[in-house]
Amino acid sequence: MSQTSTISCDTLPNGTLSVEQAQAHILTGISALTTHETANLWQARGRILAQAVTAPLDVPPHRNSAMDGYTLRHADLGNRQALRVIGSSFAGRPLAGSVHAGECVRIMTGAVVPDGADTVVMQENVQRDGDTIQINKPPKAGENVRHPGEDMRIGDTILAAGHKLNSADLGLLASLGIGEVEVLRRPRVAFCSTGDELKSIGESLQPGDIYDSNRYTLYGLLNKLDVEIIDLGVVRDTPDAVEHAFQQAMQRADVFITSGGVSVGEADFVTATLQRLGQVNFWKVAAKPGKPLAFGTLGNTLFFGLPGNPVSVMATFLLFVRPAILTLRGETVSLVPEYTAVCTTPLKKAPGRKDYQRGICERDSHGQWQVRSTGEQGSHILRSMSQANCFIALPLEWGDVAAGTNVTIIPFEGLL
Ligand code: AMP
Ligand code: MG
Repeated sequence: MSQTSTISCDTLPNGTLSVEQAQAHILTGISALTTHETANLWQARGRILAQAVTAPLDVPPHRNSAMDGYTLRHADLGNRQALRVIGSSFAGRPLAGSVHAGECVRIMTGAVVPDGADTVVMQENVQRDGDTIQINKPPKAGENVRHPGEDMRIGDTILAAGHKLNSADLGLLASLGIGEVEVLRRPRVAFCSTGDELKSIGESLQPGDIYDSNRYTLYGLLNKLDVEIIDLGVVRDTPDAVEHAFQQAMQRADVFITSGGVSVGEADFVTATLQRLGQVNFWKVAAKPGKPLAFGTLGNTLFFGLPGNPVSVMATFLLFVRPAILTLRGETVSLVPEYTAVCTTPLKKAPGRKDYQRGICERDSHGQWQVRSTGEQGSHILRSMSQANCFIALPLEWGDVAAGTNVTIIPFEGLL
């Protein structure tokens, strides 16, 4: 491995932020939305609870059988060979009556254990002959009986405020008879692409034109985060068009994301419009891809001006916008999991920026994680993101990486 340790995080050029510094700056100003709304269970998965949920009843609500078999009084087993079957208890159809000495009741899984009985013997351990049973293998006292509240007890706090509802939680709430919950409002996120060269699908390309792809990647990334999406389309590089889009976003959105138009040399009006409508800083972030980044506020709306190149859009979204949106929607931002893998291909890298190269990771025959480069790493090669299943995150100070080096990978699972 040939890593030249020339530039570290502490010695970045003036005005340049490390990825971690930029992330910290962004997150310090953001707190979760507080308004909430009612969601029924069908719409509640992935939402954040605004209020704790307490159990209004015991689950299970009654003593019931864990097996198909016969329910009986355990004390009877010491002195009797046979018990008389006096009736049956099926799920939803309990026995009317109770069990007395010398008696038992045919019972099914989930059915109420009648008064008087305390134990269930599974049917495999019983020999039935007419109205009597012989027990071949006696159960222990209380065996196969489930008690009220074993899963949840009335009054218990079952789910805390701030909890993100998963599929298990939906079932949990349903088992408590709860069909609606109070959840935090979803952030409204507006986005647009900027550029005179951009054409929409269906339009024909004139010389110098390209199709707008960033809106589609952004749409997909936002979809993953369960937010309300406001598509403001393609915005031309004119002061009026830019101002109009920004006004729209300020009125309607909690977050506004643009792509393109934030690199040095862009028409000044973008900067000027931003400065006039809000407080926006233009950052140089020591990351590749994703160097120019604008961040600030337009009124109450958080603004992210992402670079235009398709790979940079995705990388800066994942690094900076995603954690901000998660915080806003009330999620505890847990770090995206990172793993160590052996890099099987050499990687080109210049010290001074943290690289997020595109990789394909898999386990080798010994169960060890390996990663290889997708090849060409230009920030315009969107195909590298499509082929990759992880970022290879290379520290700022590293230079070229030799094959065989241990590197950090960030799997895309759950992100794209
Ligand atoms: P910019 O930051 O506006 O200078 O754009 C940088 C590069 O990204 C240029 O090659 C643009 O054509 C390209 N680009 C900008 N926006 C988009 C977009 N929405 N879809 C595809 N490429 C884009
Ligand atoms: Mg542009």
